[in-house]
Formats: sequence, structure tokens, C-alpha cells
Amino acid sequence: MIVVGAGPAGSASAMVAARAGLSVVLLERGPFPGSKNMYGGVVYGRILDDLVPRWYDEMPVQRWVTRRSTMVMDQDRALTVDFRAPAWGRQPYNGATIYRPDFDAWLADKAVAAGARLVTSTTARELLMERGSVVGVATDRPDGLLRAPVVIACDGVNSFLAKQAGLYPHTESSHFTLGAKETLALPKELIDQRFGVRGREGVDIEIIGATQGLAGGGFVYTNLDSVAVGVVVGVDELSKAGLRPEELIARLKLHSAIAPLIEGAELKEYSAHLIPEGGYKTMPELCTDGMLVAGDAACMTLAAGIWLEGVNFAIGSGAVAGEVAVAAHARKDFTAASLGRYPKLLEQSFVLADHRRFQDAPELVLSERVQTAYPAMVCDIVERLFTVTNPTPKPGLRRLLRTAAKNNGVKLRDLARDGLRGLRTFG
Ligand SMILES: Cc1cc2nc3c(=O)[nH]c(=O)nc-3n(C[C@H](O)[C@H](O)[C@H](O)COP(=O)(O)OP(=O)(O)OC[C@H]3O[C@@H](n4cnc5c(N)ncnc54)[C@H](O)[C@@H]3O)c2cc1C
Repeated sequence: MIVVGAGPAGSASAMVAARAGLSVVLLERGPFPGSKNMYGGVVYGRILDDLVPRWYDEMPVQRWVTRRSTMVMDQDRALTVDFRAPAWGRQPYNGATIYRPDFDAWLADKAVAAGARLVTSTTARELLMERGSVVGVATDRPDGLLRAPVVIACDGVNSFLAKQAGLYPHTESSHFTLGAKETLALPKELIDQRFGVRGREGVDIEIIGATQGLAGGGFVYTNLDSVAVGVVVGVDELSKAGLRPEELIARLKLHSAIAPLIEGAELKEYSAHLIPEGGYKTMPELCTDGMLVAGDAACMTLAAGIWLEGVNFAIGSGAVAGEVAVAAHARKDFTAASLGRYPKLLEQSFVLADHRRFQDAPELVLSERVQTAYPAMVCDIVERLFTVTNPTPKPGLRRLLRTAAKNNGVKLRDLARDGLRGLRTFG
């Protein structure tokens, strides 16, 4: 079996197949797994329960997220819903901030320990096809043709392999967002004080309204002695606005709710990456004769407003792809019909169940009202609610809502309709 890409999806599928006794090659174009990869910063590790016993004892964690905030901001105001759960800092844990080069290398080591052969600095250039079936890959090495009865494409967003196999009916730029982040060094004690955490406790702040009216969002994550600040923005919107992502990050860093948290921090790294945010409706076909597609290569990042999760979906789909490849070997049948168990199993697992359930979320969350009008409206209401203007008496909530809606160009009918859509989407 050939696995292309040693990200979370590739390493999970290589690990599962190698453990079952298959001969597995895991190709990675970077000099080591994770060297090419970036993300916001939180891995939800419970997906590893069955794959790596006591993963939490060895995973290269920066901090365990025990505080999760959702912030709604406009130009200079912010309202935060702040949730703290100290239990998330103990077994069985929830999310952890981790650097991707550390995490991807750790997970790939598990695949290697299971018997997979990791080949780095090697790019799969194209699929080898015979009679319409995938039978291997051509790599960029001089002696680089590799043959195998099954290839698992885990080559991430914008998968050239899935496209070459004709599995993508369409790939509009509107289905993708660009994520960009700065990693800012700050001493651990300052992070602990400013974010109100101790020891290995960490913070995840997801932000709506952080992108100057463009469809997207923002985030702040704490590592042990650095803070990640970033934005996620629609590719189309960004190009139309003529803005650069680093300008959006610069503005976010100046916001009154963010600036005090990162004052004096030193920029260590800037990175950016595409995200396949279109969700369920934009996924490719997941298998063809001789090939399966997993993780971001199959658009499996769940970007549903309050959630931005992809690593767990990549591991979940990669592991199932590995299992299906093992079963196909046992049957010596690598046709699309035999590999068709893969999408069926994914439909039964959280991977496609979550995507199916939240398939309308991207459209709703990235709509102009949710991105711009509602954050300003919420801030207006809260500001008026807490501004004491005696001797004028306090206004009632209904009047506050009506005034805030009017001032921000929101029709109450649209508000009600979006509320219902929200209930249907997330309910
Ligand atoms: C800004 C941002 C923030 C995010 N935040 C989060 C978060 O906080 N939590 C979360 O769970 N998810 C997050 N995600 C999503 C997450 O990063 C992805 O869903 C996840 O990395 C997908 O894993 P993967 O293995 O499918 O693909 P990738 O991680 O992209 O791995 C693909 C691998 O394939 C290699 N490769 C590509 N092409 C070839 C080739 N032709 N030959 C050989 N090797 C190749 C690449 O070098 C890479 O190592 C975020 C993403 C971004 C961009």
C-alpha cells in the first residue's frame, strides 16, 4: 500500500495497515513529517484512544485547553463567552495545543514503529494508471516509480492526486479559505498571568468579526511560551478586497481585546495554509479503482463557526481507509466496488456524520450578516445595556434589539430567519 502524505491522515492509515501486516510506504514531500504543515493549534486527541494507548502520556503537548472562549468583536468592542473546565486538564482530556512539526513527526513515528517505511523529501508527482485503475505513483526521484494495488491519497487540501483521478467534480475557490497565523514568543509566566491559567492549562479563543467584514474568523491559542494569533478568510473575499492576510492579523493584534494579551511578544514565525471549508457538499468522491482519499484531500476539515477541527477528522478517516485497504488485500479485490466500504463506514462514523449534520453551517456562518452586522449589533446591545445614563431610565431589551438592528441595517425578519436557520443547522 502506498500512502501519499505523512500528515495526520497519512500516518493514521499507514499505522493501521502496517499493524495488520501490509507492506506500507509512507511518502512525504517535506524533509520530515510536519515540516510543511501548519494549523491554528488544537488537537482533539480522543480519536487516538484506540490507535495509541495512553497517547496523552507521550503526545508532545504544549498545553491542555481548559478555557475556551468565543468572542464576538467589532472595530473596538468585544463580547466574550468564556468557558472554563479544569477537568479538561486531566484524563481523559479534551483539546491540546501542539506544534504541528512535533505532532506530525510523533504520529509518523508510530506508523514507522508499526512497520511502515517512511520516505521523506519525496513528492508523488502523478498517479500510475492501468486500464482505468490506480496502480501506483510516479515520484520526483530518478528511480521513482512505485507500484502497489492500493494508494491512499492523504496529500492534503488541493489534492493533485484526487484531481488527477477525476474524483473532484468541481473545485471553486469559494470552497476554500486561507488561514494565516503569527506565532509570538512570550514568557510562560506572562502567558499564565494574562490568560488566567496555571501549569499546563491553556486557552483557545475563537473570534467572530475579526476579519474587517470579510467572511472568516480569528483565533488566539496559548502554547507553553508562545501565543498563536491568526485569521481564516475566504479566498475570494480576500482577493476582491485587495487585502493581505498579515494586514488582518496586524489589525486583530491592535484590537482592545487582544493587544494587552500579547504586548511585548516577539514574532517568531508567520505561516499560512489553505483550508477546505466548503464541507460535505464540496467533498470529492472518496474512492475509485485502486485508490482512497482521506483527510483534507477529501475536504474533511469541519469549519462550522464555533468549531475548526481537521486533525481528528484526518486521523479518523485515515484509520478507516487503512482498515478498508487491509480488507481489500484479504479479498484481493481493489476495485471501487470493494473499496466502496470506505465511504459507507465513514457515514457511520463521526467523520461524515458531523459533516452531513453541519453541511449548511459554512454558508450561514460566512454570511455577511453573521460576519459583520450581528457582531456590531450584539456589541451595541451589550454596550447600551451596561452604560448607565441616569437620569434617563434603562431601556427595555425589546427596544434595544430593535434599535441595534436598525442601526446595523438588519431587518428583524432576517434576524428571525437566521435564528431559525441556526437552530436547524446546529440543532
Ligand atoms: C490556519 C489553520 C488552522 C487550523 N486549525 C485547526 C485546529 O486548531 N485544529 C484542528 O484539528 N485542525 C485545524 N486545521 C485543519 C487541519 O490542519 C487539517 O484538517 C489537517 O492538517 C488535515 O490533515 P491531513 O493529514 O489530511 O493533511 P495535511 O496535514 O495537510 O498533510 C498532508 C501531507 O501531505 C504532504 N504532501 C502533500 N502533497 C504531497 C505529495 N504530492 N507527495 C508527498 N507528500 C505530499 C504534505 O507535505 C503534508 O505533510 C487548521 C488548518 C489551518 C490551515
